Amino acid sequence: MEERKTYIVANWKMNFTMDESSIFLHKLAQKITPAKNLEIILAPSIFTLQSLSLQVDYKQFRLAAQNFYHKDFGAYTGEVAVAQLKGIAEYGLVGHSERRHIFGETIEDTGHKVAAAIRSKVVPILCIGETMSERADGEESDVIYDQLIGGLSGITSHHIKDVIIAYEPVWAISTGGGGTVSAICSPDDLASTIKIIRSHIKHLYGAKVSQNIRVLFGGSVNVENIMSYLQVDGVDGALVGGASLNVESFSNIIKKTKEIRQAKR
Ligand code: PEP
Repeated sequence: MEERKTYIVANWKMNFTMDESSIFLHKLAQKITPAKNLEIILAPSIFTLQSLSLQVDYKQFRLAAQNFYHKDFGAYTGEVAVAQLKGIAEYGLVGHSERRHIFGETIEDTGHKVAAAIRSKVVPILCIGETMSERADGEESDVIYDQLIGGLSGITSHHIKDVIIAYEPVWAISTGGGGTVSAICSPDDLASTIKIIRSHIKHLYGAKVSQNIRVLFGGSVNVENIMSYLQVDGVDGALVGGASLNVESFSNIIKKTKEIRQAKR
């Protein structure tokens, strides 16, 4: 089996002005030393991406777009094409739960976006995850299957290796940071869902792909719990929202990640 990299992704959502982003990056850069097979990805708001791309040291960090449109160009006022991110962002989030649940992004939309990202050589990070009520009704496996089959509908077995999956149970997002629902995904919950995801991928693309595909976890990850999540078999990193907005806490998450990577060797 290939050694999979570890990924820590900071999703800044709609936070930080241009100056704040730049200062944050400057401070974070002073605290982080690059490590082999560990990729730190920053997802700032779209309008700060370009200026951060000029500031960032690519030996330390990579950049991601939080969202993009799937058409390559044209009359789509207010949208940014993934094709326009070339040379700026290497990664793009697709189907984050806030896009699905606040902005009505459909499973079909995610399929178009993943395919567009691959076309433009941007790595799509396809976010999937069930709501609290879907989980309560025992539907999580079916929901995740639908999100995978729809999100990956345009992806052949040749390109699936270029896709990253992020499992983010909707009920666990931002619960540690002042969200409205108070539930935390336990490492045991995570372990069983990761197995479900990898078995769906096996069904769709075969055993080798299911072993090699990168699967991240997101849902109130912080410096206290990161170790317990990264210890779960089949988890390749974390997508961090609230705790990525503070230089101290985000740099400590990275330090813990390095420790656990070394311990695993
Ligand atoms: C997210 O936005 O993807 C996320 C996981 O947020 P938080 O870490 O705040 O739960």
